[in-house]
Amino acid sequence: MTSASPNPVRPRQVVVIGAGIVGVCSALWLQRDGHRVTLLDRQGPGEGASFGNAGVFAVESVLPVALPGTLARVPGMLADPLGPLALRWGYLPRLAPWLLRFVAASRPRRVEEIAQAMAALLEGCLDDYLPLLADAGLAETVVRRGWIGAYLDPAKLAAGRRAVELQRAHGVTVEELGAEALRQMEPALTRELAGGFYYPEVAHSLDSYGTVVGLARRFAETGGTIRREEVRRLQVEEGRVVAVETDRGREPCEAVVVAAGAWSRRLAAGVGASVPLDTERGYHLTIAEPGVQLSRPVYSSDFGMACTPMSAGLRLAGTVELGGLEAPPDWRRAEVLATRGSRLFPGLRSEGASRWMGFRPSLPDSMPVLGAAPRVPNAILAFGHGHLGLTLGARTGRLVAELVGQRPPSLDLSPYRPDRF
Ligand SMILES: Cc1cc2nc3c(=O)[nH]c(=O)nc-3n(C[C@H](O)[C@H](O)[C@H](O)COP(=O)(O)OP(=O)(O)OC[C@H]3O[C@@H](n4cnc5c(N)ncnc54)[C@H](O)[C@@H]3O)c2cc1C
Repeated sequence: MTSASPNPVRPRQVVVIGAGIVGVCSALWLQRDGHRVTLLDRQGPGEGASFGNAGVFAVESVLPVALPGTLARVPGMLADPLGPLALRWGYLPRLAPWLLRFVAASRPRRVEEIAQAMAALLEGCLDDYLPLLADAGLAETVVRRGWIGAYLDPAKLAAGRRAVELQRAHGVTVEELGAEALRQMEPALTRELAGGFYYPEVAHSLDSYGTVVGLARRFAETGGTIRREEVRRLQVEEGRVVAVETDRGREPCEAVVVAAGAWSRRLAAGVGASVPLDTERGYHLTIAEPGVQLSRPVYSSDFGMACTPMSAGLRLAGTVELGGLEAPPDWRRAEVLATRGSRLFPGLRSEGASRWMGFRPSLPDSMPVLGAAPRVPNAILAFGHGHLGLTLGARTGRLVAELVGQRPPSLDLSPYRPDRF
């Protein structure tokens, strides 16, 4: 377990923009270092992407989304508008530069570099949550029972094996299991399975939104300030941010943390950092009475979705829709999760399910941006966690506190630097 730094840090006035899981964890780690922290969000804590994720602490996820074989499969995937990957064609011209970088990130050498950097960031990252969760009385909202990657299609299982070899090469513990062994672990699974993988070190949240809200409450109880304000601009003087301008006024600061998820690009540009952030939109259905019981999350590569048992019921969450921040949700993409879910779990019922869409903040190389803005050293950029924001929230928060406190970071941060593109 990691605790606050033994080295004294000069207390500063710090503004954190964005009260998602990344901003809230950053605020808490900064507070533990003795800073005076103000957390600003135009909504309530956890109401962005952090609201409805699949709740998986996916510590095995060292590989980028784009792998050498991925691109060949893209045209086939796009043929089904409700499939695991969809593109809003009208958005293509704006997305094109991001897509080109996404393609570049799938080259074998680059995949290897990304996997190394992600393995370093993910290693032990759950430990950074432990003190925060314990202090907020939330330790029991996270359980470690592993997770299963289940496959219906033998060809996808074969491709899965190649990915698993890469994961193993980067220290991930994973076991291949046959269909019967998987059904013994999760009897609700279909008899039609081709097989799958078990990752024993993965944990999941029973209430990912409740965790953000609970952590934010603890931050406020221990002297932090949370205000519902929209940040318009960062005021920079002589190469330093001196204040944050919002729809309500002006907040002076000695350091700022941009943790505004998928909406961070414009704020980063305001401190001179040009970051190709876009969004991979995702959907969920949460079913209060699903008629099936799971002990741990099950991921389906066939459908690009996770099925996670949570306090509120079974959550079916995932898929990727490339369509920017403005287009309205395509609710068919949420509803189809029930049909797909019942292929995996024949007993699944979905009446009364609630549905949601969220904006994953995604960089084309599947790595977050984590570091000071190149020309404005007191602006710390901490966004772009894509599929892994819940997993990496506390780790990011701890690294943010090291950067603000000007301590040597406990990890080489060069792979995640904002000017790497
Ligand atoms: C369907 C789906 C499933 C997922 N499953 C998982 C999973 O199982 N495990 C995992 O690790 N990750 C998962 N993710 C990803 C994860 O949810 C995100 O990476 C994470 O929530 C990002 O957190 P964040 O704090 O960066 O952004 P957000 O939670 O989006 O928070 C950003 C906040 O910034 C605020 N903001 C933006 N602009 C401004 C402004 N100008 N002024 C004030 N406030 C502003 C927003 O209101 C928002 O509250 C999933 C995502 C989706 C969509």
